[in-house]
Amino acid sequence: MSDSSNDKNNELPLSAIPERGITHVVANVEPKTPGRVLCINAHPDDQEFTVGGTIAKWVRAGAHVVTVVITSGDAGSNDRTDPGMTKSKLAVLRELEQRAACAVLGVQETVFMHYGDGTLQPTIDLRRDLTRLIRKYKPDVVVCGDPTARFYGNNYINHPDHRAAGDAACDAVFPSAGTRLIFPELLAEGLEPHQVERVFLHGSEKSDTWIDISETLAIKISALKAHVTQLGDWDPLERMKEWASEEGKEKGLAAAESFRVMILKQDPVTEEGAREQHPDFVEAEL
Ligand SMILES: [Zn+2]
Repeated sequence: MSDSSNDKNNELPLSAIPERGITHVVANVEPKTPGRVLCINAHPDDQEFTVGGTIAKWVRAGAHVVTVVITSGDAGSNDRTDPGMTKSKLAVLRELEQRAACAVLGVQETVFMHYGDGTLQPTIDLRRDLTRLIRKYKPDVVVCGDPTARFYGNNYINHPDHRAAGDAACDAVFPSAGTRLIFPELLAEGLEPHQVERVFLHGSEKSDTWIDISETLAIKISALKAHVTQLGDWDPLERMKEWASEEGKEKGLAAAESFRVMILKQDPVTEEGAREQHPDFVEAEL
């Protein structure tokens, strides 16, 4: 081993230094397909509306994806929910719909956490439960909503469950999942620390990464249609095409989903290769 790599190994990880960040961006280069993915959202249908095209693409390229749904969506939505429906009946239906949607996307496993819909909070219990799942499934990539997104345009206040889910997921990724002495009860369950490499935040107003979903947009739409209790007889085709086209426009893509990506563990081969091969590589200290 050379001296320089020894020096590198002796460096403190950035995560150990408070409020110190570096931005690595490989402009116009789509990130490689991750091996293992945990996709965490608050409600059944959140995944299909937001990241279904990316998940379908990654699965088809060989990724193993586990979908985590924190609530079972048992509060429904007022305009679509039959007044005779009960919370427990709706939860059963929505879990079936989510499983059907995941089957269309090709997701290998779906986990329901059964927290209450409409009143979700980023509690320590939720953080511990998500940390448990991260340590169990050992994902390279966690996908979740951007917890800092509160308002979209001037007509949509982000659902508080979405913010709570994103908050708890990010806090579970860092520092809980990778730190041995946080939640020692998980060690007692045999769950060793695990370092997630990247977090893909959807719904971010600071997107820096675009996934071309031209070839999986139709799959995304079919998966979304599995959520019958939410869609009623509304056909999402045109709206989904419009959203994908809007998201791709900035990068010249016909259909895309965009993310802000937090890089917590560098892939030395990919990152060094990116520096050498792509003149667009940008590194900026914040
Ligand atoms: Zn939702």
